[in-house]
Amino acid sequence: MSKQLISVSSVDEFLFGNDLIDDPVQHSYYDESDHILHLFKCQKEPFHPSCPYCRMPACRTCGWENRTCQLLSVSGITVFLHLRQRRFKCENPACSHRTFTVETPGFKPFQHRSNQLNIVIFALSLFFS
Ligand SMILES: [Zn+2]
Repeated sequence: MSKQLISVSSVDEFLFGNDLIDDPVQHSYYDESDHILHLFKCQKEPFHPSCPYCRMPACRTCGWENRTCQLLSVSGITVFLHLRQRRFKCENPACSHRTFTVETPGFKPFQHRSNQLNIVIFALSLFFS
């Protein structure tokens, strides 16, 4: 059995891919009293996505949307990802939505825990049932 080594330039790239960068508005920090690591990330600079409802290209941004998602613990430390996602305005008058957010891969809308953490919770619930 041979190992497959993948080169990564940073821990961020390994954990979040190329979609997220450090949030310039809020720096990440460790809350020592509660043993919680808060990671603040945001989506990379603007691009021009298509509206997911009508497929019309969007050119105008419409602020930011803040989300918080709990990740798997690292060395017993709780980790929260605070994610700022860019909102875009759909300029198609026939569209059913005025604004939309581009989804960050790995984090579905309204998801408050990472997929890995949900799997661990599910496995523990099966084990203790
Ligand atoms: Zn639209």
